Amino acid sequence: MRLWFLTGSQGLYGEGTLRQVAEQSRRIAEQLGESLPFELEWRPVLTDAAAIRRVCLEANGDDECIGLIAWMHTFSPAKMWIAGLDALRKPLLHLHTQANVELPWSSIDMDFMNLNQAAHGDREFGYIQTRLGVPRKTVAGHVSDPSVAARISAWARAAAGRAEVGSLRLARFGDNMRDVAVTEGDKVEAQLRFGVSVNTYGVNDLVEVVDAAADAEVTALVKEYEDLYQVAPELRAGGERHESLRYAARIELGLRHFLEGGGFKAFTTNFEDLGGLRQLPGLAVQRLMAEGYGFGGEGDWKTSVLLRTIKVMAEGLPGGTSFMEDYTYHLTPGEELILGAHMLEVCPSIAAGTPSCEIHPLSIGGREDPVRLVFDAAPGPAVVVGLSDMGERFRLVANEIDVVTPPEPLPNLPVARAVWRPRPDLRTSAESWITAGAPHHTVLSSAIGAEELTDFADMLGVELLVIDETTTPRQFAKELRWNQAYYRLAQGF
Ligand code: MN
Repeated sequence: MRLWFLTGSQGLYGEGTLRQVAEQSRRIAEQLGESLPFELEWRPVLTDAAAIRRVCLEANGDDECIGLIAWMHTFSPAKMWIAGLDALRKPLLHLHTQANVELPWSSIDMDFMNLNQAAHGDREFGYIQTRLGVPRKTVAGHVSDPSVAARISAWARAAAGRAEVGSLRLARFGDNMRDVAVTEGDKVEAQLRFGVSVNTYGVNDLVEVVDAAADAEVTALVKEYEDLYQVAPELRAGGERHESLRYAARIELGLRHFLEGGGFKAFTTNFEDLGGLRQLPGLAVQRLMAEGYGFGGEGDWKTSVLLRTIKVMAEGLPGGTSFMEDYTYHLTPGEELILGAHMLEVCPSIAAGTPSCEIHPLSIGGREDPVRLVFDAAPGPAVVVGLSDMGERFRLVANEIDVVTPPEPLPNLPVARAVWRPRPDLRTSAESWITAGAPHHTVLSSAIGAEELTDFADMLGVELLVIDETTTPRQFAKELRWNQAYYRLAQGF
């Protein structure tokens, strides 16, 4: 994955000036490239409509190119950009910057003014983008300012997510949990809007691969578990339930073979449809999520898509990203908290310490006791985000939260869990979330935040509502109403 750096100018200035433009824009691109998560490829300065259109078409056709950063170093008359921008299908960031930080007050002359006129050149470019309705992010400031690089990095990560979801393949083992509404959705619309392809496989297709896993592979994987986690003595080699751990390893091998074989980077399971699986996949799902796979329980393919996408956005960043579900509340006034978990399937990338590997009964699923990793999520700021299908379109809702250490140990709750304080407070958060029709399954990430999500939603033209420190229920209700009107109009007729 890489980004392209485009520089706009025009032929009017003559070769000498254009050489300076190229030299300065290379320097800006190099400086910026050092702080971005992806390689930034500098492209030759653009001075006419044909070259602009060509570079946009080239970007469309290049799978490696995930987005374009454009800067009008001088003045690039914007009618030259109409055909190119109209054809462009890749995310665009308009960088409004200039070569120098300080003005050379004592030596400034008209040559300097002529060379450094992005202050109005970029406004000309802004006009045509707005006139054409080109979705983009505008970032103003010098590239040496860390906040400029940070905002461009957030956009670049969103672009990586956009590229990923555009070619993502998701395998569902079984259908949705029966009678549940919010985990349903329009898979054709999802493919059109996001690019992801979602298809169902019979769970016994998976069982075949699970059963076929080689004993030697199972033994090696069990050894890995014993090295990585605090494995309960009853599950260790020689322990009375060691066979259950071996079967959990077998599920992981089978799932991985199946997903790799089909080029899938995301999947779902459903405890109501386990076919010949002897355990609900717990440990296997947790470990595959930690490897970067998207996952949703109860057939929830939308959350699985979102999880994979955010994992790609977050690559290389500290923090973790997991499937999550709001479970139960601590409602002591002034100390309100949400306890989040899932039956078993929480990703160890968010764990505070070394997870323990345990086996306990599970009342749902009606199978043998499943093996799982047990841990608390690491404290710190994070975001939870959910995706709903509102019938005529998709809606993303995010809530900024603070994960906290549980006020007391939870010795009788042998599942992975996260405890958090939603911003601005539990009442506003929950009322807004529920009013928006946002789902109970979410992705929790301490690696990325509202800025990446906003950029991602803008790239796809998908609604995103953010509940944060500044949210009030009244304002939020109005935003919902306005959005309802806006997105209907934006769809056209
Ligand atoms: Mn659930």
